[in-house]
Amino acid sequence: MNLQSNSEKVGISFDVHKIREDFPILKTKVRGKPLVYFDNAATTQKPRQVIERIKKYYEEENSNVHRGVHFLSEVATREYEAARETIRKFINAESTEEIIFTKGTTEAINLIANSFGKTFINENDEIIISEMEHHSNIVPWQLLREERKAIINVIPFDDNGDLILDDFEKIFNERTKLVSIVHVSNSLGTVNPIKKIIEIAHSFAVPVLIDGAQSIMHNKIDVQDLGCDFFVFSGHKIYGPTGIGVLYGKRDLLEQMKPYQGGGDMIRSVTFQKTTYNDLPYKFEAGTPNIEGAIGLMASIEYLNGIGIDQIASYENELLNYATEKISQIPQVKIIGTAKEKGPIISFVLENIHPHDIGTILDYEGIALRTGHHCTQPVMEHFKIPATTRASFSFYNTKEEIDLLIQGIQKVIKVFS
Ligand code: PMP
Repeated sequence: MNLQSNSEKVGISFDVHKIREDFPILKTKVRGKPLVYFDNAATTQKPRQVIERIKKYYEEENSNVHRGVHFLSEVATREYEAARETIRKFINAESTEEIIFTKGTTEAINLIANSFGKTFINENDEIIISEMEHHSNIVPWQLLREERKAIINVIPFDDNGDLILDDFEKIFNERTKLVSIVHVSNSLGTVNPIKKIIEIAHSFAVPVLIDGAQSIMHNKIDVQDLGCDFFVFSGHKIYGPTGIGVLYGKRDLLEQMKPYQGGGDMIRSVTFQKTTYNDLPYKFEAGTPNIEGAIGLMASIEYLNGIGIDQIASYENELLNYATEKISQIPQVKIIGTAKEKGPIISFVLENIHPHDIGTILDYEGIALRTGHHCTQPVMEHFKIPATTRASFSFYNTKEEIDLLIQGIQKVIKVFS
């Protein structure tokens, strides 16, 4: 897509109004007002191209994969594997053997905690995470800690939301087995310096897992250039369907790791005495997979490739800067998360007004925001607040919508004054 617009030209060819035509839901009215969808960090809307691709799958291609010689099974298998190749290319993995389909980020991290954990982590071994992790990158390690008597070390962040890495090297010792860290924080917006973190961890021969749930849709990800050992993300946050996600893992690690679940497809042979496991990536894909989800995710990635991830990043950054500047002009607002580098996410609090009240009033203006702890209770604890209101932007959002948000916040302040 190479488009021009007068109203939203950002120095590159990008026509947001034309792009919005691809997203049927953006025409929805909420309580009589046009929908302003600023809950993109929770889930993104789906372009017609994804919706139609899923429809085509069910109307013309539906069959189970890998197990049939009949025509439809071959078609479904071909498309499912084409999805894997599309993802491989998108994140520049070396091989499709390193691309494992999961339900989403959460399942991918649980898979690693179970499989890598049970293979490599023993009593008193250490795992490093950060203070800004989503619960899905905390709780699986706590479950492992209980089982294995392992130790979790936490990298703190400062009051801007930047990780404090001065002492990072000092946390490592011979018992450190894994660093598991979020790329972009879903509640602060902080973009973490993962390349530097990976380099430091690797200097201690410690593998690194990157939670890319909030970065995959805004940044060009090249797993070989990053050098990460695992990278995980969810389809639904990248304009694809729910119930599908990706675990990228370096082949040599995946090969050493025990299977996560047992069942069909993940075996080579089964007898009551002994079972041998299938090759990668199937060793980690037990049972009938989410075929429709993989194919829908392929369509969403093709759609994003058509626009260009760099164009998307540049435009979303423009929206972030515009919104930050406007919101900062409201004296009652305090932005939570002012890191040096941020994704298109603004969390904020309003003096003496509970986020749920803000969210409810703005909902009546047709504006969808998320309020709460955003599954990052330790972040709320850091700032001694129960919750924030969060606006998260996508390339289909406009500056006019941000103006509506600003008016809405001013209305909330007026109601409560
Ligand atoms: N990590 C981060 C940073 C997230 O933002 C999310 C979703 N909010 C997750 C993990 C979990 O993703 P999912 O619910 O799709 O598994």
